[in-house]
Amino acid sequence: MPRKVSILGSTGSIGQNTIDLILRAPDEYEVIAVTGARNISQLAADARALSAQIAVTAHDNLLDELRAALEGSGIEAAAGAQSITEAASRPADWIMSAIVGAAGLEPGMAALAQGTTLALANKESLVCAGRLVLETGRAHGATIMPVDSEHSAVFQALVGEEMAAVERIIITASGGAFRDWPLDDLAQATLAQASSHPNWDMGQRITIDSASMFNKAMEVIETREFFDVKPEEIEVLVHPQSMIHALVGFNDGALMAHVGPPDMRHAIGYALHYPDRRKLPVERLDLAAIGRFDFYAPDMRRWPALRIAREVMARGGLAGAVFNAAKETALDGFIAGQLAFTQMSDIVAATLDTLEHGGGHIDATMTLDNVLQIDHLARKAAKAAIDKTTNKYVKT
Ligand code: NAD
Ligand code: MG
Repeated sequence: MPRKVSILGSTGSIGQNTIDLILRAPDEYEVIAVTGARNISQLAADARALSAQIAVTAHDNLLDELRAALEGSGIEAAAGAQSITEAASRPADWIMSAIVGAAGLEPGMAALAQGTTLALANKESLVCAGRLVLETGRAHGATIMPVDSEHSAVFQALVGEEMAAVERIIITASGGAFRDWPLDDLAQATLAQASSHPNWDMGQRITIDSASMFNKAMEVIETREFFDVKPEEIEVLVHPQSMIHALVGFNDGALMAHVGPPDMRHAIGYALHYPDRRKLPVERLDLAAIGRFDFYAPDMRRWPALRIAREVMARGGLAGAVFNAAKETALDGFIAGQLAFTQMSDIVAATLDTLEHGGGHIDATMTLDNVLQIDHLARKAAKAAIDKTTNKYVKT
């Protein structure tokens, strides 16, 4: 019997890497749903290549285009956020959650509610609503496999170990595009410069988040949620080569490091085949040729996002949802040319402050409704902060 799989966010970088692995053994899988957003030709091509049951775009106004692109294939077409969530609840044994942003939360929750194995690339859902996501998974007997490279590395270093023996978890960061830039130049960083990563080939948003370290900031929170460790047990280490993805430190002084090439097909393949290991089409590292690995402590002036993540964890409640929504809005502002690169962290800090003091119900119970509501309020507050910044900028 082939395994039933769905790929939420098939048209993105993680989605395409997942498809690459599935198409290497097509007889082993029956593809239920693929989903995407604006790139209809890619979505239709994915659905056809995988003979999926249904293809869904997030955008209602693109339904006709999707229907036309699927004509003659017998593949169902649907559109809208609700339809993506419905597609995620169609029975499947393994579901890749690779939508970018908080838009991945509801489909991921729907997938968990059917008790499936959820391969979780969408770190935003853990940042926004970690406890809710994990509890939903537990309540329905679902399995959540991490797909972020660092978290897959930690997971692998922990196989067969007791959490009680873990003293610390170190996740590495490449340092992104501006690792070696003079601090004074960061404010002038352009969109094109921020959108190119030294080691990883990823979607544009996570690439910019790597340059600002918001990606690592989210990953610290993701580590806290996923492995249920204390914030002070999580460390970030800059490692420019991106080959050691994480290290777990045990109470006997041992550090277990996970080493591999910067290729997401490793973490995706591990999540796909777990608990087995299968041969994967990734580079085999020649350590003698590489010669050295470098490490250094992150500079908090260069990367204020790392400090903000610590504040968010200390604050608790729905601060993670505010943080994520503000970060997504600030990133939109940078992409739209409204904000300088360095202003993104100012907007996130200001939004957290506004919601803390502006009756944003940051201490409300973590339910899906409350998370979505505070996400909405935080986006509004972040937009207002961006408008203020832009006005100031125009006046001077
Ligand atoms: P991407 O931008 O390449 O792809 C995003 C996918 O989400 C696309 O299929 C897009 O159509 C879909 N999408 C975008 N907006 C949507 C919306 N509003 N509703 C529904 N679908 C929408 O992103 P990516 O780099 O593949 O990253 C996907 C997720 O995986 C993110 O959460 C990212 O943080 C995480 N991740 C990515 C990598 C990587 O190497 N790319 C590594 C670790 C974690
Ligand atoms: Mg990562």
